[in-house]
Amino acid sequence: MNFDINKIIRPNIKTLKPYSSARDEFSGEASVYLDANENAFGSPLATNYHRYPDPMQYAVKMRLSAIKGVPARNIFLGNGSDEAIDILFRSFCNPGVDNVIIVPPTYGMYEVSANINDVALKRVNLTADFQLDLDSIAEAIDVNTKLIFICSPNNPTGNSIHREDIETLLANFNGIIVVDEAYINFSRQKSFIQELTEYANLVVLQTLSKAWGLAALRVGMAFASEEIIEVFNRVKPPYNINEASQQLALEALQNVDQVNQWIKELLKERDALVLAIKDFDFVVDIYPSDANFILVKTTNADAIYKYLTQVGIIVRNRNKVELCEGCLRITVGTKEENEALIDALKQFKES
Ligand SMILES: *Cc1c(COP(=O)(O)O)cnc(C)c1O
Repeated sequence: MNFDINKIIRPNIKTLKPYSSARDEFSGEASVYLDANENAFGSPLATNYHRYPDPMQYAVKMRLSAIKGVPARNIFLGNGSDEAIDILFRSFCNPGVDNVIIVPPTYGMYEVSANINDVALKRVNLTADFQLDLDSIAEAIDVNTKLIFICSPNNPTGNSIHREDIETLLANFNGIIVVDEAYINFSRQKSFIQELTEYANLVVLQTLSKAWGLAALRVGMAFASEEIIEVFNRVKPPYNINEASQQLALEALQNVDQVNQWIKELLKERDALVLAIKDFDFVVDIYPSDANFILVKTTNADAIYKYLTQVGIIVRNRNKVELCEGCLRITVGTKEENEALIDALKQFKES
């Protein structure tokens, strides 16, 4: 591999002088802060939020570092991992010139971010068993290909991508391989975050939105080499994670045991849900899942979807997604929610 960050970074980002905030220019301890035009009287709230938050979210990163076994300097925090996706485009892809590869069916934000940034998208569909088509990916790569997005476990299919295939890409591609592990906590496969020292071109995305139950706080993580993290930090908005989110994330990160308990329960519920619905006559197939949802191929997805919404149950209709024809993506809920779904499906009569 000949990965060289200087060859793929956008020229304007390479020379970018980032905004220098008051907290960047003075980060020691002082008794009087008159440098940031804040309201020194306080906030009209029980908790004070009148000071700008830590731009580098040091406390949260130290806690994450302990949980993940990755140094804080290899961690970037974004306003959701969606922010990290956007920053990848803005840092490495020249609009109107460069391209990225996605492997559909996959998470929709890669395409939206590409379009927002005016970056061409090359689609190399997954194989029929939702794995990478390495030969076609190799053919699609050209000198302007900067990023390849691999989602594992994949949304919406639920399966993990073969590890050796991702390693093959990492070893041979001179751009960045983004491994989106939003669902890694539910997977039997191990994370790629321990491979950062092995691959300079690896960016792993994770999030507090799924297993951690903090979707509303908007905290996502990118794990990468120090060089790549340094680029992200220069490009990001100075205070991209607000103080309330930092404090609540830090508090939540003390409760690893609770989260692990939920994951165990969820996996049991996922198995029970599969068992309960697999023999319904409108269920054609349920794909193996390493995530907190299942992809169910049905004989009539639109009708089932419509019926479920009428009885107040919302699933995701993926019928129009290539390779997912007839499919509904169903998030695994609580025992009661899953039972409500199963009962409703029992009463569904094909029209
Ligand atoms: C939900 C999801 C995310 C988004 O995470 P946020 O941190 O909430 O922005 C990223 N990637 C995939 C594949 C997802 O399904």
